[in-house]
Amino acid sequence: MVTLKGTKVVAGIVIGRLFVYMHPDKHVSRATVEDTDAQIRLFNDARQKAIEQLEEIHESSLPYLGELNASIFVAQEMLLEDKQYIDYVCKQITESKYNAAYAIALASDEFSRLFTSIEDKYMQSHVADVRDVSERLLRILCGAEGEMIQPLEPCIFASDDFSAGDIVGFKRENILGLATMFGSQVSHASILAGTMGIPSIIGLGQEMLSIYDGRCAILDGIKGELIIDPDKRTLDRMKRKQKEYDEHQRMLLLLKGKNNITKSGEYINVYANIGSAEGVETALLYDAGGIGLFRSEFIYIESPTYPTEEEQFNIYKEVLEKMRGRKVIIRTLDLGTDKQASYFRPEKENNPALGYRAIRISLAQPGIFKTQLRALYRASVYGNLDIMFPLIISVDEVKQIKEIINEVTSELDSEDIEYSKDIRIGIMIETPAAVMISEQLAAEVDFFSIGTNDLTQYTLAIDRQNPKLESYFSEVHPAVMRMIEITVDNAHKAGIPVDICGEAAADLNLTQAFINMGIDALSVSPNMVLPLRKKIRECD
Ligand code: PEP
Ligand code: MG
Repeated sequence: MVTLKGTKVVAGIVIGRLFVYMHPDKHVSRATVEDTDAQIRLFNDARQKAIEQLEEIHESSLPYLGELNASIFVAQEMLLEDKQYIDYVCKQITESKYNAAYAIALASDEFSRLFTSIEDKYMQSHVADVRDVSERLLRILCGAEGEMIQPLEPCIFASDDFSAGDIVGFKRENILGLATMFGSQVSHASILAGTMGIPSIIGLGQEMLSIYDGRCAILDGIKGELIIDPDKRTLDRMKRKQKEYDEHQRMLLLLKGKNNITKSGEYINVYANIGSAEGVETALLYDAGGIGLFRSEFIYIESPTYPTEEEQFNIYKEVLEKMRGRKVIIRTLDLGTDKQASYFRPEKENNPALGYRAIRISLAQPGIFKTQLRALYRASVYGNLDIMFPLIISVDEVKQIKEIINEVTSELDSEDIEYSKDIRIGIMIETPAAVMISEQLAAEVDFFSIGTNDLTQYTLAIDRQNPKLESYFSEVHPAVMRMIEITVDNAHKAGIPVDICGEAAADLNLTQAFINMGIDALSVSPNMVLPLRKKIRECD
């Protein structure tokens, strides 16, 4: 028996035969060419062919992936039309006289390096796009145009890595689970595996060798392990764990449509946190009462340049329409520190977490802020929209925000553009400053949402990004809990509701404490909605 340890991506336990497929050696040889025009023609022909393939995949995957998930392939098509990418490859061919395949491999490395250097884990999904697209081009150039070999009967499918294109090409009924040597939790492939509900683990490392092909295996997507040739005891234990997990999932799904009500009859709203319009589907699947936090900065991060009013309007409208009247709280741009957009490069800061981020950017660059507010207000007629603002530290900031909102609504009025008159304006309580003046702030806004991730970071002076300090980062520190208590009391004294949308909201050990404090709503990642509902129903 061999146990390989990796990283869990999609929960679930599956037992079956292992099917191992390694992509052919991606080593591309370098050659010096004389006829550079011919190499450029080869590159362009391959590009054309790749675009056609992606169009086909997009069309065929639409019915089961939905428009939003299938848009990955549109984004990859766009990359194949991207001037910078094309110019880079052509320059390698014309100036360095490299063969087309080598120039593409160089472009793949260079653009992956560029995205990685942005030091934002969400940019890794773009790295995956660059790699997927370049590999598709190389496969075409090598004449290996076919899709990857895949199991013909239900198996645990293991490989060096999967691309998003590989995953949509699978016959779902033959894929019990996925295991890879490499990969990233936030790659499109991982996101798609989650959407398709395939238990998955990544990062098993070099140990994951082809010699295990055909062997019996257990994929534990809860723990992030792949057990090969399990002994009888392990097999029995894992079968029990699988049964318990499946039972638990079934039981949680029975809670769909039920109230989040404590034993003593108190009702707590449970909302979902999302980072893109795609998240809405999962939020609805798990029966979230609304969206408690839409991190709108991901629209900016995923866009090659500042998203236009129209682009943002379409996304907000889609989210609001899909939520069909359930509450949707959209937070305005919270760029900065670990969340950087490639085109937005503030000067290097010594303390970025204490620097130019969130509302500070919006107030310093009102043009960007107004574009977002116009998009939000215009979209507001399509659902039940509330807007909130990140990292507030003063009443003056709230007043400035209100002034800008007034300018935006006056403009919309003069253009005869409709918007909802019921939008509630809230702020995030993420700094000790906001807690200490929460009484004054409560008089200015319609609701508070406590961001415990930043509130913990700033209260304890512990960088939330620093893995070395992980053991110090504690939302249950009495200082943080007291901050939450003060905020709830001041909100309620002013008659406004208060929710928690930081990670602490999903800590089921804290649910009773939050209920005791009188919290009105908890907003968690979609897959935590039903476990939290279950917990609330067990609380007093
Ligand atoms: C928080 O700080 O708790 C929060 C919800 O915001 P983010 O994690 O996006 O900074
Ligand atoms: Mg925050």
